[in-house]
Amino acid sequence: MKKAIGIGALVAAMAAATLSASAGPADRLALFQEKTIFHSGLLHNHTVALTFDDGPNAHTGELLDELKKLNVKATFFIVGRMAHRHPAMLARIAAEGHLLANHSADHAFLGSSYDAAPQKLLNELRDVDDQIRPLMRPGDKLYFRAPFGAWKFAHAPILNNDPLLRDYVGPIYWDIGGDITMSRDGYVMSASDWTCWRKHWTAKACGKGYLREIRRKDGGVVLMHAIHTNSAALVAEVVPALIEEGYDFVRLDEMPAYRQFETPGAASALARATPPKTAKPELVRVSTLK
Ligand SMILES: [Zn+2]
Repeated sequence: MKKAIGIGALVAAMAAATLSASAGPADRLALFQEKTIFHSGLLHNHTVALTFDDGPNAHTGELLDELKKLNVKATFFIVGRMAHRHPAMLARIAAEGHLLANHSADHAFLGSSYDAAPQKLLNELRDVDDQIRPLMRPGDKLYFRAPFGAWKFAHAPILNNDPLLRDYVGPIYWDIGGDITMSRDGYVMSASDWTCWRKHWTAKACGKGYLREIRRKDGGVVLMHAIHTNSAALVAEVVPALIEEGYDFVRLDEMPAYRQFETPGAASALARATPPKTAKPELVRVSTLK
């Protein structure tokens, strides 16, 4: 059967090749990387992946309302102890079509002390995995972001030795939202929400920073937080303008750049009853990447 040659077909072919190359667990690729994954592939693609960290809490509901109104799907990096306190909110995030992802149980700085006590590291990720995995849909992919972006080389092999945690791709960084920068003549050139709120900036001022950085980079993975009084207001400042400007919005599992880090057959990681070798590679929505 002839197929149009496009990026979609290429991705499918690559996925199929990876699948057919998959053998026993010993041959599986490591998923957790020794170095933080900085390359999102979204810069200059007029495509944005909104990521909301540290939730859920009571304010996450207002944020979900806003995203629903705008019909935008995002990725939520969940903190375990927050989810234990707000289980209904966690379920709502998944039910509304957003992707749940792992941001550790306690939001601890994952330094060298965690290599010395691997069980501690494993527990940080298992706690969130236990909570999010049952809410996810077959075919959803698993991602991890390290608290504060802190990562150690030695964490990767510890996590990749775990039969469930090795399904994760990570640690995932961000392209936009890391800090506040100003131009010499006083314009906000970029912003990070938690710093904005600490400085008592309005959502409008903070949003200007986000918008300028997104436009300058023409897309990327955007770091925001799901837990602040102003979280929904910030989205209301930023997202409608981007929609107006024709930006596309994706979840992390719609981003081809992360696929290279997946275990062969990982498409079925959330549906292990399905034998990996017969699982069809899932097509990435590449049409949105222009
Ligand atoms: Zn965080």
